[in-house]
Amino acid sequence: MTKLRLAIVGAGPAGIYAADILLKTERSFDVSIDLFEQLPAPYGLVRYGVAPDHPRIKGVINALRDVLDRGDIRIFGNVRFGEDITLDDLKKHYNAVIFATGAIRDSALDIPGIDAEGSFGAADFVSWFDGHPDVPREWTLDAESVAVLGNGNVALDVARILAKHAEDLLPTEIPDNVHAGLEASKITDVHVFGRRGPAQVKFTPLELRELGELRDVDMVVYDEDFDYDEASKDAVASNKQVKVIDRILQQWRTRPSVNNAGGEASRRLHLHFWAKPVEIKKDTDGRVAAIVYERTQPDGSGGVTGTGELREIAIGQMYRAVGYFGSPLKDVPFDKKHGVIPNREGQVIAKDSNQRVPGIYATGWIKRGPVGLIGHTKSDAMETVQHLVNDQGSWWQPEDPSEAAIPALLESRGVQWTDLDGWHRLDEHEIALGGPHDRARIKVVPRDEMVRISRGE
Ligand SMILES: Cc1cc2nc3c(=O)[nH]c(=O)nc-3n(C[C@H](O)[C@H](O)[C@H](O)COP(=O)(O)OP(=O)(O)OC[C@H]3O[C@@H](n4cnc5c(N)ncnc54)[C@H](O)[C@@H]3O)c2cc1C
Repeated sequence: MTKLRLAIVGAGPAGIYAADILLKTERSFDVSIDLFEQLPAPYGLVRYGVAPDHPRIKGVINALRDVLDRGDIRIFGNVRFGEDITLDDLKKHYNAVIFATGAIRDSALDIPGIDAEGSFGAADFVSWFDGHPDVPREWTLDAESVAVLGNGNVALDVARILAKHAEDLLPTEIPDNVHAGLEASKITDVHVFGRRGPAQVKFTPLELRELGELRDVDMVVYDEDFDYDEASKDAVASNKQVKVIDRILQQWRTRPSVNNAGGEASRRLHLHFWAKPVEIKKDTDGRVAAIVYERTQPDGSGGVTGTGELREIAIGQMYRAVGYFGSPLKDVPFDKKHGVIPNREGQVIAKDSNQRVPGIYATGWIKRGPVGLIGHTKSDAMETVQHLVNDQGSWWQPEDPSEAAIPALLESRGVQWTDLDGWHRLDEHEIALGGPHDRARIKVVPRDEMVRISRGE
């Protein structure tokens, strides 16, 4: 029987779902799958993006772990495609590759002053509070007033973690350095800015409602933002999600904290709508000093136009949550404008000629761009896998498809790779660290420590 030797690069949900779907698909050939992951731990942004105080969503990891624990997929962790293993290596040892490398960088925002000290991308902050091994351990929260730019769920995650008291995050899996950083925070006011109105936000009701439940944090919304135009009224009337969002915001309008008057909490979370950031002002040391924003107004069709009215709020740090962006992979086509691997339904195509590149596939955020929930990566994977199965005639013909070739290759290069048993060891270690403190787990952050524990050294 023909055998498909498949490499999948990226052990986030997209890569794991692709492996699972292929193994369960009716087909006329055998399959053996090797999953390469640059980190010593699998699960991608479910482990390193989803906020630590969202344990229900983090719980998706249980389903992903069940797939890996079935034992029919080999994992090579701590192996970076492009450095430890190349496309030429994969062509030599596999029939095809699926790239599922996701997105971890922040999209750029081109406004004056964005390069100020204290101006950050949300992805960097998220990576820090979720204990990603490749970002610095320290995060100084020395400003009283901070801005978060964006009106999606990531913006709300960032705003919530900034506003929340550190001890309220203790029951979660946050690493000790993150707890210490948050405990030392001087923040009193978090200002969230959205270019459009309450009826056009991208965040979801659940994430919004949660803000109102934070201990010792007053929600502040501004009456002037609720003067809805016809398009906004239509959106509230016709879209259930918008209706719920509007209802939550309207309730906050009547709370005593509105417009900063009468609230008793030690921290405030302000939502500014119709506010387009146009400049970050710096102090004489080049640090973030203020945000200048232009008041916008509805353009009648769900968009906005500027009013020319500029306003300014003093802040000491700024976090832009304006989207994630994929990274290019060595020798693999890349669309620089959209930050994705160019593809048609997961079949990778050359950027210039638009021709298919045989043997190479993409799935998840690197295929579709960084939008959508974990569940969407499943339907994504189905489409990609279907093409892979149908394309049997155009797979690569590897020189050495033996399963022994890969460990030997990594060994010869001195790569300290980790496997599924290693992940179990690290997983159990983190759970044991949490045990005495009544916490589900405490994440291990330094990469060398993760590798050492995984490899039982
Ligand atoms: C801050 C944040 C919060 C979110 N919260 C939620 C939520 O609450 N609910 C929800 O449903 N969705 C949420 N999402 C979306 C969800 O995380 C994504 O839909 C999903 O993770 C995308 O899956 P993926 O496998 O394509 O990418 P990823 O999860 O990014 O996985 C990609 C994997 O590839 C690996 N990789 C990258 N480059 C290489 C390389 N060169 N070599 C080897 N491996 C590599 C990465 O290390 C990573 O493990 C959130 C996203 C973010 C950013």
